[in-house]
Amino acid sequence: MTASETKNTPTSQIGTDIKNGSLDKVLNRLKQRFEQVARARREHAQVLVDAKQLVINRANSGQCPKCGSNNLQAVHSATQKGFSDTGACSGCCCLGPVGLLCGFCGSGKKQEQSYRMCLNCGNKF
Ligand SMILES: [Zn+2]
Repeated sequence: MTASETKNTPTSQIGTDIKNGSLDKVLNRLKQRFEQVARARREHAQVLVDAKQLVINRANSGQCPKCGSNNLQAVHSATQKGFSDTGACSGCCCLGPVGLLCGFCGSGKKQEQSYRMCLNCGNKF
């Protein structure tokens, strides 16, 4: 049996087999299907692991995790931070009036950010 035959077993074929009373054939087909699904799942899981490992490897070797380019630029940005609406809002939800004060605490502080930017694909990380 070839790979393409096992891959596209028509459901109608199974019905025909049941009518013909060849239960073994049906069971075999079902078993093959289950094995296919299990194999596909294993392969999919492996792809995910590989992708994760690839990102880790690229990060370790100083490459862009997205495209693997070495064409990176370190970017430093400093922004003057005013009263943070979002900070106060989320703080308010979590901590009540104390959270509102937290929003004020952050005001006027200089926030520095440094990250790397890929000049190839524009990915920031
Ligand atoms: Zn990139």
